[in-house]
Amino acid sequence: MVWIQDRSNPMSPSRPMLAVVAASIATFTACAWFEPAALPPPEPEAAPDAPPPASTNSPDVVLITLDTTRADHLKRYGYFRDTMPGLEALADGALVFDRLIVPMATTLPSHTSLLTGVWPHEHGVLGNVEHGGERFIPSDHLQSLVSILAAHGYQTAAFTSAAPLNTDSGIQRGFQTFNAAPKAERSGDQTTDAALRWVADAPRTPMLLWVHYYDPHNPWTAPARFREGFDQDGGAIRDWMESHQVARVTHRPTGEQVNARGAMDAYDAELRFMDNQLTRLFDGLAARGRLDKTLIVLVGDHGEGLNQHNEPGHGLVWEEQLHSPLLVIAPGAAARRVPGVLSMPDVFPTALGLVDLPGEAEFLAQASGKDVLAADYTPRGVLSQTSIRQLKFGVPQTYTLTSDTFKCEWAADGTTSLWDHASDPYELAPVTDAARLDPCVSEGKALVDAQIARGKELGGHREKLSDAEIERLRQLGYVEEAPPPTKDAPKPPPADQE
Ligand SMILES: [Zn+2]
Repeated sequence: MVWIQDRSNPMSPSRPMLAVVAASIATFTACAWFEPAALPPPEPEAAPDAPPPASTNSPDVVLITLDTTRADHLKRYGYFRDTMPGLEALADGALVFDRLIVPMATTLPSHTSLLTGVWPHEHGVLGNVEHGGERFIPSDHLQSLVSILAAHGYQTAAFTSAAPLNTDSGIQRGFQTFNAAPKAERSGDQTTDAALRWVADAPRTPMLLWVHYYDPHNPWTAPARFREGFDQDGGAIRDWMESHQVARVTHRPTGEQVNARGAMDAYDAELRFMDNQLTRLFDGLAARGRLDKTLIVLVGDHGEGLNQHNEPGHGLVWEEQLHSPLLVIAPGAAARRVPGVLSMPDVFPTALGLVDLPGEAEFLAQASGKDVLAADYTPRGVLSQTSIRQLKFGVPQTYTLTSDTFKCEWAADGTTSLWDHASDPYELAPVTDAARLDPCVSEGKALVDAQIARGKELGGHREKLSDAEIERLRQLGYVEEAPPPTKDAPKPPPADQE
């Protein structure tokens, strides 16, 4: 394995990352080479209500969200490139969930489902706020796990890397420290620096630390050295692209042309870069003794099209945009693979089954998600849907219900499809099987109705950004609008800035 330097300090000496990240997190060691130098000035932090003094001896919680990370571009999920060796090392000590199918391939709705344990129609966030989605505001019946833990004495801190997760989103609620990207996006090295700086001064009370990485999201700017070796596997990547019927060329809504081969390499290079930062973060946590008794959740918020199904970005309901990695590490929990589909609302109900956290009963009472490891869990299909932004691009509202072996799809224009993952894992050709399709669609529609009804019961107060707020974001470069479709022009490909 070629050693990869971090982007922030290209002149630093090579460091044996894989020697530090060994077979499990137990092998993380204090590292003298971490130098939090040349940090950007601290960003303003949210002013929260002060929590009561911590009095528990509860586990720390470390949540890592990997934006735009396709499960099938990770070796642990079958990819031929070792794009994330640090994550691989963590996975050796983790529960690795085979098929996390997220409810929406859009950043804010997916993260809101993660932190609340409910579905998008239940929390009401159906798009990123800068694209017309509503920001999350809790109610008496619906709050994030963060707020619950903060109320029980946890130190809560978040370090996010992109506009959809800034303080306009509502996702910052419950965090005593909320350190967001100062611009539309920040690189993972800067986010890691900020997080480690906070960890260095964090009190020894239990903490919930959330670090969000955005590097795999377009635009791809990882230094060329992160592509090292990719030019040696031209045959393998061509075979991979051919088997997945990847379109040679697509276009983004902005008109930018996306060449498939270049996109694969640039995207995988960003995964490597992000992995490098992930390793720095975990080494830093280990050096501070914050991995000794810790619940660790690493989860992707959605995947990426990479020209599959003629889509360079995400926001739709194809497998490659919904299937995301999920690793959970808990004290005393044996590493293993976990088969079967689950969704974002299930992540914390499942993880909380492995540890005892104060307030977890309160969270589980509101959650619609299930503990998929519970003895009484009955496998069920999971719902996914397109984001409301897709309507602007002429894509009808579309839902899918994914079970362990197949997936049905129905859209507002009346079209339906059935995909048999047992024989067609890449969703290359729908099958005709009314005996499976019709009951699946009926069940899915009933789930949508039930979720909308429960959303009204939960009553999260929701609000859209004002025109002035949208304009402010536009001036900051947060809002990238594609030209609206015209009647005569071909339908533009859906957006990727989700
Ligand atoms: Zn995202």
